[in-house]
Amino acid sequence: MFRKRFVQCLGILTPAILLAGTTPALAGGKKCTPRNDGDRTEKVRQAIHGGRAKNVILFLGDGMGDSEITIARNYHVGAAGRLTMDSLPLTGAYTTYAVQEGNPDLPEYVTDSAASGTGWATGYKTSNGRISSVAGSTGVAPYTTILELAQAAGYKTGNVSTAELTDATPAVLASHINARGCQGPTNMSSCAVYKKLNGGPGSIAEQLVDHKVDVLLGGGKGRFDQIIDGGPYAGKSVVDSAIAQGYTVVTDASALATVKPGQRVLGLFNSGNMSLEWTGELAQPFPGSGPQTCVEDQRPANEPSLADMTSKALELLDRKGKSAKGFFLQVEGASIDKQDHASNPCGQIGENIAFDKAIAVGLAYAKKNPDTLVIVTADHAHTSQIIDPVPSNQTDHPGAFSVLITADGAEMTVNYGTEPPGSSQSHTGSQLRIAAQGPQAANVVGVTDQTELFHTMARALGLE
Ligand code: MG
Ligand code: ZN
Repeated sequence: MFRKRFVQCLGILTPAILLAGTTPALAGGKKCTPRNDGDRTEKVRQAIHGGRAKNVILFLGDGMGDSEITIARNYHVGAAGRLTMDSLPLTGAYTTYAVQEGNPDLPEYVTDSAASGTGWATGYKTSNGRISSVAGSTGVAPYTTILELAQAAGYKTGNVSTAELTDATPAVLASHINARGCQGPTNMSSCAVYKKLNGGPGSIAEQLVDHKVDVLLGGGKGRFDQIIDGGPYAGKSVVDSAIAQGYTVVTDASALATVKPGQRVLGLFNSGNMSLEWTGELAQPFPGSGPQTCVEDQRPANEPSLADMTSKALELLDRKGKSAKGFFLQVEGASIDKQDHASNPCGQIGENIAFDKAIAVGLAYAKKNPDTLVIVTADHAHTSQIIDPVPSNQTDHPGAFSVLITADGAEMTVNYGTEPPGSSQSHTGSQLRIAAQGPQAANVVGVTDQTELFHTMARALGLE
């Protein structure tokens, strides 16, 4: 492990790095000198296509700010290396603020995944905690989502996540509710008017199934095992209501592999969030943790990787033929955020690299199907920062930190300082990277707002 991490700047390509689909820093080089691709004007010009896309694949790294991307890159391929996600030809930045629940005319500068997701999924800002519903509303007040519009227009739809499927990011596409915690029929204490017992559309789990999304893959089986309290499936679990509505339900990787196109599929691979890819020491207050290398390949084999779920989703959603309607697919790398909250640098990096491998699957599909708009972005910035080495006498250093041995063979100090050590760390309010390729991709260039992504995707699919 240590040896592998040590070779990047010597230009020796390890199989692990090649397999990851990443670009090594320096094939055959001697030092960590950055690349020089020369004049890229023509390449960028050739990457600009207007018009319609047959398919849209949105890759969403939860909490994947520029800082998280840089940490993952430094660790896994070295500072001068490039991740797969770095290869998209058109890149911009976008702003992510939410609005205040009590006064929607004022911004909330730090967004959560619910308000942020509502922004990119519907084109409207809302307040933190809301799932595609109107800030300040007391009744059932939905904003129409890109997935709903695509489905109504005859596109197939897919929603893939390493979190519980009822978590905010997958939820915003096919459910509407005032509080993100109302994930299963027995989690509805903050969402009374939405309860099926009260004539509402039900919890997030119920709504995802009732929306008949073609492909739903992720964690959160515990929510779907809860019992529905009203409507036609009262007394049944959400899983049973899914089966009654034509879903094939699978709960492990081998069963997922057997699902054939034409079946509507609900894959629930963990009772909660899906298992982490990597482990390591948590960041600690002075003197910190490490120097460490991460322990890789920790996900149990019965849970599919995000890349495997992406590959299966594309197989199930793909429609051959020029005139056939395509699909909308969202793929979320969810636990970049969750491990950033937990001050767990190895957990965070492992999820970021797993997300990057899923992007490689999407780009391979787009290579064969160039009428596919591929977008890679995030929903909000987060805590982790690369800082200078902490001097051995700086006992009052704030926050928690860990030293990691990177692929360069150098030490990188990662700090978690938005909350006291040991507490859940906080999101931050910075703008984010958005990158794209395919029809309409030029609309991510420059500085846009997250809500504009909705319009870019809708335009690409001919929905507005
Ligand atoms: Mg999320
Ligand atoms: Zn978070």
